[in-house]
Amino acid sequence: MIVCRFTRDLRLEDHAALATAAEDGPVLPALVIDGELHASLQRSPHRAAFYVCAVRALDEALRERGSRLVVRRGEARDVLVRLARESGANGVVWSARYDGAGARADLSLRAELEEAGLHARCVHDAPAVGPDEIAGGPATGYRAFQPYFERWRSLPIASYDRPILLRFASSESESEALPFGEEFGVTGDAGNVAPGRALERLQAFLDGAARMYATGRYLPSTDGTSRLSAHLSFGTLALRTVVRATQRCLDNPFLLNEERRSLRLFLRSLALRDFFMQLAWFHPETDETALQVRMREFTFAQRHPHLDAWREGRTGFPLVDAGMRQLRETGWMHPHVRSVAASFLCFDLGVDWRVGRDVWERRSIDDDAAIANGNWQWIAGIGADLVQHPRIYNPRRQQLLFDPHGEYVRRWIPELAHAPFHDVRERVPMLPLYDEASYPSPVVDHAREARAFLQRYRSYAALRWAGAQGSAATEG
Ligand SMILES: Cc1cc2nc3c(=O)[nH]c(=O)nc-3n(C[C@H](O)[C@H](O)[C@H](O)COP(=O)(O)OP(=O)(O)OC[C@H]3O[C@@H](n4cnc5c(N)ncnc54)[C@H](O)[C@@H]3O)c2cc1C
Repeated sequence: MIVCRFTRDLRLEDHAALATAAEDGPVLPALVIDGELHASLQRSPHRAAFYVCAVRALDEALRERGSRLVVRRGEARDVLVRLARESGANGVVWSARYDGAGARADLSLRAELEEAGLHARCVHDAPAVGPDEIAGGPATGYRAFQPYFERWRSLPIASYDRPILLRFASSESESEALPFGEEFGVTGDAGNVAPGRALERLQAFLDGAARMYATGRYLPSTDGTSRLSAHLSFGTLALRTVVRATQRCLDNPFLLNEERRSLRLFLRSLALRDFFMQLAWFHPETDETALQVRMREFTFAQRHPHLDAWREGRTGFPLVDAGMRQLRETGWMHPHVRSVAASFLCFDLGVDWRVGRDVWERRSIDDDAAIANGNWQWIAGIGADLVQHPRIYNPRRQQLLFDPHGEYVRRWIPELAHAPFHDVRERVPMLPLYDEASYPSPVVDHAREARAFLQRYRSYAALRWAGAQGSAATEG
């Protein structure tokens, strides 16, 4: 018998750890709520609500197969050793983590379990292609996305669906109660987040909005993106499943050019997830430090008089504020708005990317340090070299381009519900439009702040290296 410890892989389908465990005999499905997981769920009520529902759905799926989840609270090493001894299991399998802290925790758990005489195996499950499964690349992984993507998309995607040998142990092991909202300070419910739901969402997306993803992904008022990030973060859906389903769509010879382009761009987004995981895997120091060594001395502020305004969605820049409020109310922010809101923090306020990352971590459902670090560093211009997109976003221009009628902004900022957005093109430059008592005028002059930042950046670059300055910081 072998214990399969579920972590951020809360499903039974296409499950690498489960398939690996099945090779060694009957599988005892276990869930450990340790201090770190408890703290992460307590920090974000949206995350806790999602997690509780996802675990419930997993337990139901196991019960349909004549098994159940054995839940224990405590530190992973103690719980797993005790469970293995009680049940007669000779080992533990679980899915790897990719951020520096997570990877270190996996390593020391493995050592501790082996010391206790158990087989311990930590397998790749979260990425479609594991960091060390991309052969032929640089020994320390890819730092630039484009060559990574070229290689990534040429590789076959594994499937762990329906392992022939999978048999669940008829365990007598006692289980504590399934996780419940109140233990993390939550009373609400995230609804049905079962894997079946995630699959339905994926299918509906691939049949519809994915065909217009090239343009739809920038429009925050529409359902133009998949909204699968929370499912991928907690593994209620495997990224491999999403990649394979997208590739199947692309095999359709009757696709219009625009549809094909959109589906390819969606695939590219999925690859970004793997890219940032491999970056963290090969560069664990990027948990807290810039990937670009030459940018490590460049300082961002820890505080700013308008930091609270950013946090609370009251900067007077409607797109930024709407995004921050969407995140606070739902645990998710539209991806393009994320870029604009993050750029505002780093460049308009000059505040450290880690401050923003930590604010979002406390509000998001997803909990992927590797992906958060990679994206924040990319926006701040100190991380991976993705593409030559501008990184300093002009929040007002972005609103004019992608929410010209203010549908998104009005949805999340009730103070602006009756603002005359029908003529927003003419009026926006004349802000404030609104009753200042209810909605503030802009807290900074964007053009001035952007210029000041670029000046500081160029001076730093000129001192640090010749010729390359300015390449990573332009305005858009
Ligand atoms: C500053 C910043 C911070 C972010 N922090 C996080 C985070 O903490 N956790 C997180 O999961 N995502 C993060 N993202 C990436 C992305 O914005 C979110 O995953 C978003 O929720 C995707 O929404 P979606 O599922 O509708 O995306 P879609 O556009 O439908 O994309 C499909 C999937 O591709 C992956 N993907 C898309 N864009 C990215 C990207 N830039 N990086 C990595 N994967 C991507 C995601 O898994 C996503 O679910 C961040 C982006 C930015 C700019």
